[in-house]
Amino acid sequence: MKGRKLLMIPGPIEFEPEVLHAMGRATTSHVAPDFIETFGTCIELMREVWRSPLGQPCIVAGTGTLAMDMAAANLVEKDDRVLVISTGYFGKRYKDIMDRYGAKTTIFEAPIGETVDLDAIENELKTNTYKALTLTHVDTSTGVRVDPEPIAKLAQKYNCLSILDGVCSVAGEEINQDDWGIDVILTGSQKAIGVPPGLALLVASEKAMQVWENRKTSVGSYYSDWNNWLPIMKAYEERRPSYFGTPPVNLIVALEISLKIIQKEGMETRVRRHRELARAFRAGLAALKFDFLPKSNEISANTLTAAYYPEGVDGSALLAKLSKDGVILAGGLLPELKKSYFRIGHMGSVSSNDLIAVLSSLERSLIELGHPVKPGEGLQAFQKDLLKLSVTHSKITG
Ligand SMILES: *Cc1c(COP(=O)(O)O)cnc(C)c1O
Repeated sequence: MKGRKLLMIPGPIEFEPEVLHAMGRATTSHVAPDFIETFGTCIELMREVWRSPLGQPCIVAGTGTLAMDMAAANLVEKDDRVLVISTGYFGKRYKDIMDRYGAKTTIFEAPIGETVDLDAIENELKTNTYKALTLTHVDTSTGVRVDPEPIAKLAQKYNCLSILDGVCSVAGEEINQDDWGIDVILTGSQKAIGVPPGLALLVASEKAMQVWENRKTSVGSYYSDWNNWLPIMKAYEERRPSYFGTPPVNLIVALEISLKIIQKEGMETRVRRHRELARAFRAGLAALKFDFLPKSNEISANTLTAAYYPEGVDGSALLAKLSKDGVILAGGLLPELKKSYFRIGHMGSVSSNDLIAVLSSLERSLIELGHPVKPGEGLQAFQKDLLKLSVTHSKITG
């Protein structure tokens, strides 16, 4: 396919053909029996992906930002204290959202490429009473991955709700909502969950629902108010027709297909695939002398990589060359560093072949721009890293 492009940005991603076909099917009524079944199945499958048998899923038309907004609008009231733990652009966005609902926010910002110190978080929770804290699992602007579990445990210890922005992690990184005790985990459809943009998705814990029920004031956003959506989610789950706002029928049909693909692969296998490919890809880039924004492998995302352009390389020229080759990557997102780094998304149905295509195009583009790398250097490191893993696997399984 000559005109084919490889979309390797951190969302939207490459979607499975079956998922895309669903988008083009005849649109049914939102109360047709088939659609009610589809919606109900999506709710049940979300509990599996989030690992939250006790949680309340919510599916509405919107983007990841709406899911962030919905958690804030429903759980936070004016003058509530909220601690925002930020590892980049989307952490700051959560502060803006919380401020909009009148919360008293404190933001702890990690230096670029690092995470916020656990002791500092504990100290703050000990000193002040917080209603909620927010954290970003993978901040898409920096490629930094936070370990949510210890922070969620601290939130529980100090009786504070935890809200995890999982837009760039759900269905790509390890998630255990109930075990970790996280009150809301939210995402958008176009990232690792593998459905075109347009769905805001979240799962809320029993405790989150109780806190919402015990609000003193009404929810400040009409569209986000769970009073409007909870009856709809319950109705679909019980396979009854209902209506508040017309659901994006085709997107939800596509969601069911994607969730079934994820279920079939199994979350454990899927997370391992993301981890192994991400590691090998970083090895490939490191062999080409790229430096990464995250300061260590331990806190590097498995869903995307953020890397600095090598010295003397014109970033926009490099991305333009790759684009000519049919490989679409993303530029920087942090305003202060925008021009000095770029991002490669590798989540969802990403395969080793996709990453080989990216590496080989990168090598050629760098060479054409006069940068001294040897053809095959990055590819070799990538292959070696993956082979090492498969040798270990066959030893384990064989
Ligand atoms: C993409 C992203 C968002 C915003 O999602 P939209 O669908 O663009 O509104 C929020 N948080 C993180 C971590 C993201 O990666």
